[in-house]
Amino acid sequence: MMVKKVILPSRVADSLLEMARLAYPLEMLALLRGKKKGDGVYIEELLFAPLSEHGSSSVYFRFDLMPMDFTIVGLAHSHPSGIPKPSLEDLHNFIGRVMLILIPPFSGYRDIYAFNSDGENLRIVVEP
Ligand SMILES: [Zn+2]
Repeated sequence: MMVKKVILPSRVADSLLEMARLAYPLEMLALLRGKKKGDGVYIEELLFAPLSEHGSSSVYFRFDLMPMDFTIVGLAHSHPSGIPKPSLEDLHNFIGRVMLILIPPFSGYRDIYAFNSDGENLRIVVEP
């Protein structure tokens, strides 16, 4: 079944927004751990990526050092530039099923965008 939505518990969504605010004007990067649930992907928790190095224009990520972990369902990162779309590099480095992109001001759930590996927008459902 095609993934159509990303389900975020509010505590996870709040953590993502806070991490993005703290990292700004640099990018933040986190791995998403979760599971498929019907036509959605449910995000259970966030993990910091191994040896990620934050820069102002791109996120460097050692995919070769990532542990083999099938509960990793995707990546979240911020775009301080404010562009709510994955770059070509983002799509090239896509892992898992979904990608979350956060844009300034990182103040509400509408600042979080979700995409599949084709770069198509997915719905985000925030659960209490
Ligand atoms: Zn990006």
